[in-house]
Amino acid sequence: MPELPEVEVVRRGLERWVAHRTVADVQVLHPRAVRRHLAGADDFAHRLKGHAFGAPMRRGKYLWLPLADSGMSVLAHLGMSGQLLVKTRQAPDEKHLRIRVRFEDAAGEAAPGTELRFVDQRTFGGLSLHENTPDGLPDVIAHIARDPLDPLFDDEAFHQALRRSRTTIKRALLNQSLISGVGNIYADEALWRARLHYERPTATFTRPRTTQLLGHVRDVMNAALSVGGTSFDSLYVNVNGESGYFDRSLDAYGREDEPCRRCGTPMRRRPWMNRSSYFCPRCQRPPRLS
Ligand SMILES: [Zn+2]
Repeated sequence: MPELPEVEVVRRGLERWVAHRTVADVQVLHPRAVRRHLAGADDFAHRLKGHAFGAPMRRGKYLWLPLADSGMSVLAHLGMSGQLLVKTRQAPDEKHLRIRVRFEDAAGEAAPGTELRFVDQRTFGGLSLHENTPDGLPDVIAHIARDPLDPLFDDEAFHQALRRSRTTIKRALLNQSLISGVGNIYADEALWRARLHYERPTATFTRPRTTQLLGHVRDVMNAALSVGGTSFDSLYVNVNGESGYFDRSLDAYGREDEPCRRCGTPMRRRPWMNRSSYFCPRCQRPPRLS
């Protein structure tokens, strides 16, 4: 699954190439890509037609395009292999093209003659249309917490939630109703930087420890963004969670048996909630059982 920085790169690309353009028509080429829109493909296409997209929004890993004058938004589910591409109309269709959105070309268009394509090899992803909450979120993601790059993220409220919770720190970091946008990769990276074992109980966290950890979470995400943030400059918006842009800069994730970049001890991998946790057994000591 793509994580927050990858999704933010896509959001920036859409902001540059697609925002404020009016939908001329929508072609759904595979019904699975709109299966979350229960009224079906024709209804989905009909409701978008004639509306302009607003500025694309993101919360955590969720990305949506508000539909002007409708009180609704198009939510993008990127799944494992979903891509949003901006292509010229003449460009040959991709093999796994699922949805095509054509635009009315207006004067002063940033990218005249282009269209938005949703391409998805494995069809786990898709687009769906939802009513907005009063806050402007698609209703189906109203429970998703703000992400740590959101200026309105409340560090103190997060700390208090950690203190109250009978959970461990990596579970808390992946709990989208506490903090959104932190996936397995960036959780391992931030915990390595903070020298914290993933099983550490959150009830023991002091305020300085929470502050330090949030700082590391933001640092790893911003570092990833600074690498990926240049790739939207071309007329091509892309996300693929499996081969993300950022593999080279990882210190923990995927580095089993390689030396810790801080102390040289071989890194370890442990099964964790159907996934893996990567950590340094020396820098990130497991909590003592009490
Ligand atoms: Zn180490």
